[in-house]
Amino acid sequence: MTVQQLSTTVIIIGAGPAGAGTSFFLTKYGIPHIVIEKETFPRDKVCGDACSGKTALVINRANPEWLAEILGDAQSFLPSWGITFVAPDGKSLDIPFTLARTQETPAPGFTVPRMVLDDFLFNKMPSPYCTIFQNATVSEIARVGDSVKVTMTHERAIYEVTASLIIGADGDKSMVRKQFSGLDTTPKTYAVGLRAYYEGVTGLSKDNFIELHFLPEMLPGYLWIFPLPNGMANVGVGILSEVVRKKKINLREQMLHAIKTNPQIAPRFANAKLNGKIQGWGLPLAMERQNLSGDNFILTGDAACLIDPFSGEGIGNALYSGMLAAMAIQHAVEQNDFSGAFLKSAYDDVVYKRLGDELRISAALQKLCKYQWLFNFVVKKARKSASLRNTISAMFSNIDLRDQLRRPSFYLKILFNR
Ligand SMILES: Cc1cc2nc3c(=O)[nH]c(=O)nc-3n(C[C@H](O)[C@H](O)[C@H](O)COP(=O)(O)OP(=O)(O)OC[C@H]3O[C@@H](n4cnc5c(N)ncnc54)[C@H](O)[C@@H]3O)c2cc1C
Repeated sequence: MTVQQLSTTVIIIGAGPAGAGTSFFLTKYGIPHIVIEKETFPRDKVCGDACSGKTALVINRANPEWLAEILGDAQSFLPSWGITFVAPDGKSLDIPFTLARTQETPAPGFTVPRMVLDDFLFNKMPSPYCTIFQNATVSEIARVGDSVKVTMTHERAIYEVTASLIIGADGDKSMVRKQFSGLDTTPKTYAVGLRAYYEGVTGLSKDNFIELHFLPEMLPGYLWIFPLPNGMANVGVGILSEVVRKKKINLREQMLHAIKTNPQIAPRFANAKLNGKIQGWGLPLAMERQNLSGDNFILTGDAACLIDPFSGEGIGNALYSGMLAAMAIQHAVEQNDFSGAFLKSAYDDVVYKRLGDELRISAALQKLCKYQWLFNFVVKKARKSASLRNTISAMFSNIDLRDQLRRPSFYLKILFNR
């Protein structure tokens, strides 16, 4: 069989949110790229299906009309106005995402099955600068001189694709990460999750608040219940790998046990029906700064281990890192410099400048979560104090305010009601 030769500026492996985010902005900058995806869209991805304002922000920057489409289709993209935290002692706390809600303002977050979201993003990718191969199998990735070469099979033809740069947007088990980078996860920086779709869960909030239940047996992880369109709910658990190993937790049993017996949760599932299978997947967490790029490669999204260590949010960071990767690539193309040293300052430094503070705070919060009494105490105080609830609300958009959560003085102030 003859091998077909292709040449481009950038190869993106993976067409999930990180790959799509990179592609949208490469198209904006007029940079030719080839996207190689192993699945055929629409395809599923195990996830909680909750999207924050960061997802909306990147989509809006890519094209405001796309965000308008999302906001105008509440049947598919369910607007969410806040979050309910349930402390280990079972007491709950409702925190709106915004204190400035009006008739005109769109909801800061939304939920949407990944089958729908990722297909939406995938269908926005085609452009004169973007060539997509889906259902393709990559057999080899190699650095050849100043370039990278990817060998793949697509519709029984073999291709060798050469480019100046390769983007690892290939998720949790990234081939690009394995091949080029020393970046890796450990049981302290990796969580495992399960996702199930249920129909008929009762007691969901009318404003579609997403719910995080910090059950004592799962700390620093949690069980979530996220309302979805059409009366469905995404229900799952995410627990740190280290905890799963130490406590020898059977995730599936743990989740079903909570659904059957937890006094706050079980009555709400009395008539609920599981749709499809319970499925699992890993979450590579951003616990500390790591190298995200090197000679001729950049890692984005889960391939770069950029999931928020407290909330488990990864879709927004995948899209956002894709956008930052494209910006870095634009500079690299201008300078004709695809070296690790250049990409470190054009990409890694920018990612950590923009996301570093919030990731550091989240890593600290994740560690604090194991102190059940502290969690119970803050929720108890906030249930009684509107001003504390407002402060926590404001923390969603104000990083400096959120940073207070890392400081003992914040908890002392609550204790003495100041
Ligand atoms: C249980 C669970 C719950 C979660 N809940 C949430 C949530 O509610 N909100 C949130 O924001 N985040 C959540 N996350 C995290 C979120 O799912 C990920 O952070 C997000 O999917 C990362 O996007 P990505 O594009 O980097 O990777 P992916 O979405 O995994 O996309 C990678 C793409 O690369 C393709 N690919 C992989 N290998 C190859 C290859 N060798 N060749 C070609 N293509 C390849 C895959 O088919 C896929 O299409 C959750 C994760 C889990 C596991």
